[in-house]
Parts: sequence; C-alpha cells; structure tokens
Amino acid sequence: MTSPPRSEHAEALRVSIERLRGLVAAQRWGALAAEQGELERAVEGVTAEAATLRAERDDARTETARAELHLTAARQVLEDGPDGYIVTDDTGIILQANRAAAQLLGVPLRFLVRKPLALFIDEVDLRIFRWRVNNAHSRSQGEWPVRMRPRQGPSFTAGLTVTAFVGHEGHASDLRWFMRDITARQRAEELATAQDFTNRMLESEQDARAAAEAARLRVEIQAAVSSVLAATLDYPAALSKVTGLVVPAVADVFLTDLLAGHTLEQMAMACADAAGAERLRARRPPDPSSDHPIARVIRTGDAMLMTEVSAPWLEHWAGSGESQDLWETIGLTSVVVVPIRSHRQTHGALTFGLGPSARRYSQADLGALKDIGLRTALALDTARLFKELEAEQRHRDEFLAMLAHELRNPLSAVTSGLDALERVDESSRAHLLQILSRQSKHLARLLSDLLDVSGVRFGRLMLQRQRLDLRDLARDSLEVLQTASKTMGPTISLRSDPGPVTVIGDADRLQQVLANLLDNAAKYTPSGGTIDISVAAEDDHAVVRVRDSGTGIEPEFLPRIFEVFSRAGGATGQARPGLGLGLSVVRELVVKHGGSVAASSPGVGQGSEFVIRLPLHRDEEVPSSGPTPSSAARSILIVENNPDACDVLRIALEQSGHRVRTSSNGKQALEETRARRPDIAFVDILLPDIDGCEVGQTIRGQPGGDGVFLVALTGLSAPTDPDRALRAGFDSYLVKPIDPDRLSEVIAQARH
Ligand code: ADP
Repeated sequence: MTSPPRSEHAEALRVSIERLRGLVAAQRWGALAAEQGELERAVEGVTAEAATLRAERDDARTETARAELHLTAARQVLEDGPDGYIVTDDTGIILQANRAAAQLLGVPLRFLVRKPLALFIDEVDLRIFRWRVNNAHSRSQGEWPVRMRPRQGPSFTAGLTVTAFVGHEGHASDLRWFMRDITARQRAEELATAQDFTNRMLESEQDARAAAEAARLRVEIQAAVSSVLAATLDYPAALSKVTGLVVPAVADVFLTDLLAGHTLEQMAMACADAAGAERLRARRPPDPSSDHPIARVIRTGDAMLMTEVSAPWLEHWAGSGESQDLWETIGLTSVVVVPIRSHRQTHGALTFGLGPSARRYSQADLGALKDIGLRTALALDTARLFKELEAEQRHRDEFLAMLAHELRNPLSAVTSGLDALERVDESSRAHLLQILSRQSKHLARLLSDLLDVSGVRFGRLMLQRQRLDLRDLARDSLEVLQTASKTMGPTISLRSDPGPVTVIGDADRLQQVLANLLDNAAKYTPSGGTIDISVAAEDDHAVVRVRDSGTGIEPEFLPRIFEVFSRAGGATGQARPGLGLGLSVVRELVVKHGGSVAASSPGVGQGSEFVIRLPLHRDEEVPSSGPTPSSAARSILIVENNPDACDVLRIALEQSGHRVRTSSNGKQALEETRARRPDIAFVDILLPDIDGCEVGQTIRGQPGGDGVFLVALTGLSAPTDPDRALRAGFDSYLVKPIDPDRLSEVIAQARH
C-alpha cells in the first residue's frame, strides 16, 4: 500500500477539521457522523506518516552516531597516531598539529601553532618545500623525502605528504600535511643500495680477476704451445705435446684434423674425460667438402665460435647418431674451431671444446685460440720444408756418390787401357781402342747430361729449330742402340706411320731425347725382353711411344720419375748405374719444344711405356725461324785471364773466319772496347782485377755499348753465375769447357 505524501495526510486532516468546525458552527449534527469517517482516515494517514518519520529519525540518529564514532576514531588517529599531522594555511603557517608532529619537530604542541612549517625544513630542501606549498592546490603530490631540522634532537628525513582542502566556494583554504620519520627506512634503502654496490663491485672485481686469469692462461698457453712447436721438427710429436697443454687449461676436448689430399685425418686428440678420449680415438673427421663446421672453417679460413651449443647444432656437428651419443656423453657445451693456416697453405683445423662446466668460450678466447692455429700452421710449414730440404740434401749426397762412381768406372778403364795400349799386340790393340772409344763416349755423355741439366735448369738452352721427320730420328736412334747392344739384348722393333711425321725442332736435342728413352728401356729390360718404338701422327701431335717389357715402375715413384736426380729405390733402380738425370733432361727438352712426356707402368716387373707428344707440323706452316749458324765474319773480343782457355777459344773463332782480339784483365778490356767497339765480347766472369759482370755493365754503358753482344764465360762450379751475368745485362753465356755447338749457337744469336 502506498501512502500518500505526508503533506497530503496533514492537508486531509486540516480540511476534515475545518469541515467539522463548520458543521458544529452550523449545528448540522446529522452531517457530523458522515464527516467522522473522513476524519478517522485522515488521522490514520497522519499517524502512519508520523510512524515512518520516527523510524527515519531513529535511523538518522544511528547514522550520525556512527559517523561521529568514525570521526572520533579518525581524530584519535590524527591526534594520537604515530605519524605527524599538521594543518597549515595556504602559505604554510601552522594552524593545528598533533602530538606526533610536535614530537617529531622537537617542540611542545602549543608552541607549534602560528609558526611557519618552513622553520623546521632543512635549507637544502627549502626550495622544493616552497614549490610544493605553492603548487599544493594544482597538483596531487605523493610522499617525498625532506630533511627536517627539529628544534631539539637530531635532524631526520621525513616522508612528507600534502593535501589541499578546497574551502567554501572553491577558495583555497588549508593544507593538511602528513609527516613521518623515514630516516631508518632510507638508511635501510641506502644500505641495501650500498650493499648492492659492494656486491657489484665484488662481482666485477671477481670478473676482472677471472678475465685477467684467463688472459694470463691464454698467454701462457700461447707461449708454451709455441715453444713446443718450435722445439721439434717432428710435427706428430709436437702436436701431441700441444694437446697436453691445451687440455685441460683451455679446453676439455681438443681435436687436430689435418688435410691429407682430399680427406681429413685426425692427428692428435685429447679429452679431459678418459672414457671420452677412448671413444674419440676412433673418431672419423668430417669430409672436407661437406657442410660440417670444421670443413667450412678449413675452406673459408675463418674461425668459428659457438658460445652455447644447442641441441640442433650438436646434431649437425655429430653427424651420425652414434657420434651424437659420444658428444652428448662428453657434454659439449661451447666450441671454437680455428684453421691451421699460414700464408703458405692450409693444413687443417683445430677444435677446442668445453664440457659441462660453467666455462664458455668468448670473443676474447677466439683471438688466442686462432693464434694457436697460426703457430701450429707455421710449425707444420717448417717441419714440411725441413723434410723437403732433407730429402733434397739426401738426393744430392746420393747423386754425388753416384757421380763419383759413374765417372771412376770409365776413367779407370781409359787410364788402364791407355797404359796397356803400348804393350799389347795388334789385335788386342784394336779391341782396346774400341773399349777406349766406348768409355770416353760414355764419359762425354755423362758430362753432357750434367751440362744439359744445369743448362736446362736455368732455362737458357738454345734450340736450333728446323723441319724434321721424327721417323728418321727414331730410325737413327734405333741403329745406334742396336750397334751398342749387339750381344743378346732385348728384341727391338720400330713401327712408323707410312707418311711423314714432321715437327719443327732441334735435331740433336730430339735425338738426345729418344736416345735417353731407348737407353733406359735397354737398361731396365733384361735380355729376352722386348722394346717397341712407334712413331705416329695423331691429330695435332707427333707421338713417339717407347714401350718395354722390363722391370716396370713402382706406382709411388711414377709422379717423381722426371725429377732431377730421382731414381727408383729398391731392387728396380739402385742396382743399375745411373745418375737420375736422363729423364729430367728428356722432360725439359720436350717441354722446350712445346710438347709433353708421360710415363706409365702397370707395376713392378710388368714393363713401362714413355709417350712423347710434340706439336705436329703441317707443311703449309713456315718453320719458326731460330738462329742458324752464321759464317759472317765478326769482330770479337775475348776477355779471359787463363791463357790456354783464351787460346782455345781464339783459335776456334778464327777458324770460323772471325777477327779476334784478346784481353787478360778487365781494365785492359775496357780500354780496348773504348778504342774499338767489338761486335761480340766474351767476358770471363772471374777476372783478376774487376768482376766480370761489372766489366760487362761498363762496356754496355760505353758509347755504342748497346750494340755489343755480351757473352759471359762461366765455370760449371758456380751455377749461379749465368743468372748473375744475365741480370747484369749479358745477352748470353757459355759454360766452360766450351761446347763448339753452343759456341756457334751463340755467334748465330749475335746476328740478331
Ligand atoms: P738413370 O737411368 O740414370 O737413373 P733417368 O732419369 O734416366 O736416370 O731415370 C730415372 C729413373 O727412372 C731410373 O733410375 C729408373 O728407376 C726409372 N726408369 C727410367 N726408365 C725406366 C724404364 N724404361 N723402366 C723402368 N724404370 C725406368
């Protein structure tokens, strides 16, 4: 039931009473009864309303009581609470304060009122305090620390909060301040910060110490590694010593993989974990052409750093599942791979790995480890170089021993033959003369091989080029061979193309090539064996094959067979006389003719084949013009202090129709050339007064000296002389004793 508004009930009652009053005045008693109902209803309404009002009043009273209680509590908190509570006007003059505030500021409560709060603020914080006072109305401000100066007691840091109360009609009124001593808290914070700082200092000091320690270790390792590597030329031994240094100082696992042809071989290895080491021994290094990190480092020459190994990376690193198991057992966590590489060559790679410890490789480690790679490479270079030098030295020693032996045999035959010549009868004398002739030819051959080798090695051999049919050369060589070994040697056969096999070349030199090959074939083929020669034109090449059924060649020796002084070891080679020069002369001469030579053999005891290919000459081609002997008379000066040598040369030249003058020393020679410029000057390199090279240079510098053809005369004993002479400006050189063919070659050269 909704009751009408209170005013309505009261109004209804007032109207009802008015009406009763009117009825009584008019004395209309009958109508009074009807009005009674109205009146009762109105009274009821008012009564109900009064009841509601009373209830509401009671409620309000409870509410007020509660609010008052709150207020009292709040006031009590403000009055008696531990925090300072101050009310100031908007300029900061204290209007009211609680006990805690008085206590904090060291003043009795009653003295606080009307004092400016600024009085208690330390000078350092006054500005900010004023700013806060001025801006308290416009900004909400959180607690901020302020240095407080109490009238009594030590200064302290207060946490200050200010709230502005907006007064009547929006006018600024008072400011309420809360203040608490936060000195202890701040000190705790400061302490914590300080502690933190100290901790950090300690940590960084530890870090620095660890870094210094690591750096020291790196330097020590580097030094140790280099001294180990430098101390020995036996590099497998050196490498295994290095592994001992590296593990455990800078790595838990260390691998050395060296290139051997197209594969990698594990040379030295170490692992801090004994079981791991055992398993690593059987490790197979990756294929150098693969995508493996080690292979990539070797190919690119760039080191690799993997600070934290991830599972997929480890899988890639390990390759196979079995190998992955191994690396997981070792617990590889951090890896560095560096190339073993010097400016000369790349030898392989070093791998440094760390196990499950907290250690990890960093950029700083990389530098030091790369350095170990470089030092290893340098040590390997040196060791290899030393090995090569040793081998060369050994070769040379063997060669000298062999040379002495080879020369002594024919020489002693010649000496004793000459001795016997006078005492023997006619028939024996003829035989002796044959022997003498053969042996002296052999001697001459040995010497000419030696001369050629020195000549071709310096690359200054002259070719007298002309058109030649190789079939004729082969036939001539064969005849020589057959007369030489008439007694039951191997059977020799020659097969030639029906048409000419023409080349442009030096007949004597190509004859020498064939003779050397045939001599070898005969030397290394027992009687009863066969030697087959074939000469054919194949495409653009003239091809000569010399095949024998003799001792054959070991496959390991084949690649070195054309090298100077190289002879097969063991029963195949050393049993037979020889200097290991013939084939190197063959190769040099063939190459000089623009051709090539190859040796092959199915194996020891199965014969060998040597194939020569020379550019085939077609008839329409004009033979390349080389120097041809000249008969034109030249004016020649010989500068030579040995009178015999000088005379021999003079006579040879005069016989060819040249005009010859001689000087026995440099000074005289220079005067001579200044007076009369020769066409050609032969100058001995070793003169008593001035160095022959210098004499040559001075002649060159004289007026018209450009036109003099300078020829150096050198001894075999000084193989560097020709080089020196050519550098000094000589046009050519002759090695003493002078070969007449070379002499005419040189004279021919001078015509140009
Ligand atoms: P030399 O015969 O004087 O030792 P070469 O330079 O002519 O020197 O030959 C070098 C080496 O090559 C020989 O010592 C020999 O071992 C090997 N050789 C050369 N020709 C043959 C051949 N026809 N059969 C087997 N071995 C050969």
